Amino acid sequence: MPELPEVETVRRSVSVALLGCRVEDVETGSLKLRLPLDAEQWRQVIGQRLESLDRRGKYLLARFGDVGAVVHLGMTGRLQVAYSDGFRPPHTHLVLRFEGDRELRFVDPRRFGFAVAMPATELDGYAPLPQLGPEPLEGDVLAALVAAARRLRAPVRNVLLDQRVLAGVGNIYACEALHRAGIRPARPVSRISPARLARLADSIGAVLREAVAAGGTTLADGGFTASDGQAGYFAVQLAVYGREGLACGKCGTAIRRRVLGGRSAFFCPSCQR
Ligand SMILES: [Zn+2]
Repeated sequence: MPELPEVETVRRSVSVALLGCRVEDVETGSLKLRLPLDAEQWRQVIGQRLESLDRRGKYLLARFGDVGAVVHLGMTGRLQVAYSDGFRPPHTHLVLRFEGDRELRFVDPRRFGFAVAMPATELDGYAPLPQLGPEPLEGDVLAALVAAARRLRAPVRNVLLDQRVLAGVGNIYACEALHRAGIRPARPVSRISPARLARLADSIGAVLREAVAAGGTTLADGGFTASDGQAGYFAVQLAVYGREGLACGKCGTAIRRRVLGGRSAFFCPSCQR
């Protein structure tokens, strides 16, 4: 599932390719996404330029003159920039054709994502954007964690996934940051000392910054993704996520998996307390 670094990577690659370019046509598919694709609303962007593309948590916010759009990639969604005569992958639900024979495609096999257009004035108030917690790369992560620790008793991994606490952290980077900070995913957030919360805050920032930088490296190599190429996701070296039974890189102990709140948490039973 795309998390903050993946969404930021998409934002950068689409911006490099299409910022300032005019939309010439729009095509909308008929299959249902998590939210309906409103063909009439999307046609309002025809003739407008992509003026800005911002990110808030895992959401992308685009402005085309008077028209705004919010895109969420869900589980399997991606945005692909390609030449208009290129092969269109299956599960392409929305295509914005830009000047210069290029197009932006919203592709989503499992359809948990969405792409909604609306008047640009409604963008900032679009639910659930106002409810999102601070951005972990810009906001005060430690203050957000301390506030959460005062009112919540849930496992810290689950708290990190709560987008009202921090915007953009998902399961992969929550598990990685907890490993780096030496904290068990199941530990109640209320029972973590201030010093360890500070270490966790630092780890979250470091893990996310490294992942964004790794995505940036891909961008420098490839520019925007052409024709049927995958979006520019990167191969970050993961320390624990998806590594059940493999050796911890710090101590050699086998990584364990435990289901918390319906989702797997990966951790080292020796390094993490
Ligand atoms: Zn270990």
